[in-house]
Amino acid sequence: MTPRIHVPQLLQQHARIALDDHERHRLLRTLRLHVGDAIILFNGDSGAWQARIVETGPPLQVELVARIPDARDAALAVTLILGLTKSGAIELAVQKAVECGVARLIPLLTRYGVSRPDARQSENKSRRLQRIVIEAAQQCGRTRVPEILEPATWHDLPGLLDPGPRLLFWEEAEDVQAVRLRTLPHPGAAVTLLIGPEGGLTAEEVTHAQEQMGFVTVSLGPRILRAETAAMVTVAACQLLWGDMG
Ligand code: SAM
Repeated sequence: MTPRIHVPQLLQQHARIALDDHERHRLLRTLRLHVGDAIILFNGDSGAWQARIVETGPPLQVELVARIPDARDAALAVTLILGLTKSGAIELAVQKAVECGVARLIPLLTRYGVSRPDARQSENKSRRLQRIVIEAAQQCGRTRVPEILEPATWHDLPGLLDPGPRLLFWEEAEDVQAVRLRTLPHPGAAVTLLIGPEGGLTAEEVTHAQEQMGFVTVSLGPRILRAETAAMVTVAACQLLWGDMG
């Protein structure tokens, strides 16, 4: 499979891009590529480009040949709001949501989630999650890198939301004749999903989301899913019902 590499630079026809030593080693030593061999570059914003190695360097240089149509970016713009939870869970949730075509991710600070990390922790966590998003996009062939925002509070949330239906997945909704995904109308171009942390959402948080932001509570059935499972399942279910996985 032609190697795909994420680069920060602007991509345009005939541009020459120098790759870093890590990628140079991967292409020349691990993959044993040579001058003239093809690779794919993407920068998460201006699509993917067919390129070829023109100099082995260092630095290794590639030249852009042609833009590749965005075949793997989802038509349904899914925003996933995730109660900020302990490291492993949120990283797995983020990685799987990217593979399932999520367009935007908003970590949310909730009552039972992890407390707001201090500035240094927050910086490290944001950088790590950003890297997971890029690696997952690279691995699954996406050309647009989903956006992951800084952790938001409930107060921040209204200003961050796109128009379109807002679904809050609540394990206690089952008891109150919950709505199920397949009974909902097609959301159109965009849908926003909210999943709580492993400690769950308080009833006050659920009411706040319903009354202040118009979220509809939705049940995923009788079993209690882990936060990371619920994140993956909800994005995949929306893509199956209304996007490009069904
Ligand atoms: N109350 C849960 C418990 O007893 O373990 C804690 C929350 S659950 C681990 C994490 C999140 O996944 C929930 O906040 C909710 O958003 C979602 N979730 C899990 N199971 C669900 C279900 N059956 N229906 C709707 N949402 C669910």
